[in-house]
Amino acid sequence: MMDLKLLESDVRPDWCPGCGDFGALSAVKNALASLDIEPHKVVISSGIGCSSNFPGYIRTYGHHGLHGRAVPVAIGVKIANPELTVLAIAGDGDEYGIGFNHVVHAARRNHDIKLLVLNNEIYGLTTGQLSPTSKLGQKTKTTPFGSSIYPLNPLSTLLGVGATFVARGFSGQVKQLSELIQAAIKHRGFALVDILSPCVTWHDIYDEVRSKMYDLNKEGHDTSNLHAAIDRSHETDRIPLGLFYQREDVPTFDEMLHENTGGHIPVREVRHLNDEERKAIIDFFS
Ligand code: SF4
Repeated sequence: MMDLKLLESDVRPDWCPGCGDFGALSAVKNALASLDIEPHKVVISSGIGCSSNFPGYIRTYGHHGLHGRAVPVAIGVKIANPELTVLAIAGDGDEYGIGFNHVVHAARRNHDIKLLVLNNEIYGLTTGQLSPTSKLGQKTKTTPFGSSIYPLNPLSTLLGVGATFVARGFSGQVKQLSELIQAAIKHRGFALVDILSPCVTWHDIYDEVRSKMYDLNKEGHDTSNLHAAIDRSHETDRIPLGLFYQREDVPTFDEMLHENTGGHIPVREVRHLNDEERKAIIDFFS
């Protein structure tokens, strides 16, 4: 296993003490180290929000971009550099709201990127407004009398459009979450890991998740059964965690693109930059 210190960033997370995103950060580092994926072979693309500060807190390549646009940047990176491990990491407002169109089509086309959504059922950075996954009746700054809108179910939606890997983890269960992220990285094609990641400041769901969660993979769930996966994704009395669905017989968009164009899409070599190249990039953006 690679030394975790190689993934340590000089930047300390400014998340609130107890924020679920700390657990997700540990799980991502653990997953990359367990798979021996060197930092220079990883790109993390994010959007806007507390969780989208993620690329700054881990020593890989990263892109902290526009709200809802983590996925299209990740897609471009993967097409240009197929050897890279490309993660899109952002929150529920970013990925299930503002950028959900990108998510649906990335899943449908089976782009070989891994989407980790740190889902806290609220807009945290902007101080507590209704998000796409906020629950019916949930009181937020924008719904002081309780939400009257049914929440989006991202798992069943993506299962419905043909996603080839769908899982749910919890940032309070770092070991299981790390294993799910490792499975997502190893998966051939698009992978969604929905991560329940409580916002302790605006919508703390630690107790709810802990009291209702169970490991669906210990209950004999068949991960090749799409209908069973959809049924499980609609459970609300209990919260299933684990791998809902996976199939690996679908070609990835990237494979088809390079094949259909006869290898004419230029592919960039993955390597360490030398000091001169690094300086040129820094000078360019200064
Ligand atoms: Fe985490 Fe919520 Fe604080 Fe943002 S506001 S850092 S999501 S606890």
